[in-house]
Amino acid sequence: MAQQSMPAAPSDKPVYRFAPSPNGLLHLGHALSALLNHDMARENGGRFLLRIEDIDLTRCTPEFEEAIYRDLSWLGLDWEKPVRRQSEHFDDYRAALDRLIEMDLVYPAFMTRGEVKAKVAAREAEGKIWPHDPDGSPLYPDDDRHRSKAARGALIERGVRHAFRLDMRKAMEHVGRPLIWTETGDGERGEIPADPSAWGDVVLSRSDAPSSYHLSVTVDDAAQGITHVVRGLDLFEATAVHRLLQELLGLPQPVYHHHRLVMGQDGRKLSKSESSTGLAALRDQGFLAGDVRRLVGL
Ligand code: GLU
Repeated sequence: MAQQSMPAAPSDKPVYRFAPSPNGLLHLGHALSALLNHDMARENGGRFLLRIEDIDLTRCTPEFEEAIYRDLSWLGLDWEKPVRRQSEHFDDYRAALDRLIEMDLVYPAFMTRGEVKAKVAAREAEGKIWPHDPDGSPLYPDDDRHRSKAARGALIERGVRHAFRLDMRKAMEHVGRPLIWTETGDGERGEIPADPSAWGDVVLSRSDAPSSYHLSVTVDDAAQGITHVVRGLDLFEATAVHRLLQELLGLPQPVYHHHRLVMGQDGRKLSKSESSTGLAALRDQGFLAGDVRRLVGL
């Protein structure tokens, strides 16, 4: 009897994901990302997942989430259900944070954004150069990192609001070797050296949100078995932090593909508040899904 071929187990197939945040309407940049993920999954016999990145409970809304489903369906995309919504997985991120706390690689950070800004401004007024991360934000000062355990405990006891930050130097020492990632995208390709220290002590859980982008994206890519992360070049540098967290938490590393960005007429990155390049606005003007493919150069 001829042997029946077994369908590949889901884990044998490449797994792609599009992971928008429902804090605004999708625009042409999102369309490029979603279409690339979808097309690459189809070409490689893989799976295409959609993940709703809604950890920011103040800015994300059910209406924007509905709009994501509407816009992606209009583009002709089809994704596996149920969709993973990050707001339903805060326990997973907390568990990962707790592990890093147990490893003594995390500290409570008490400075508000305003306090950081004031400190940086004061130093710069003295003519000192304050280091900034690849996105242009000042690195977090080291005041909290050096606080004693007792002092930290006392502040928490008093109810002072705090975030949790990764002690970058300690974390890199813990890993103890240089990290790289495999990149197949539109910028630099090949084995890319990861430099997470450029980001300083990144936030892992915020005082107003129980996780951070870096932590939840890393935990979720592993939880969903993502093998290929396809996203915009604006997240290229952030990959260094994700590689470090994967290494610390013993998670597998996907292949990364950072694609070109769709620019506006002013030559700048598109923003969610700009409605002219929004997918809903294009649909209302009579554009078709095929027109969107052409507009984003596919
Ligand atoms: N949620 C992120 C965004 O909307 C994308 C995260 C990722 O693809 O890693 O920009």
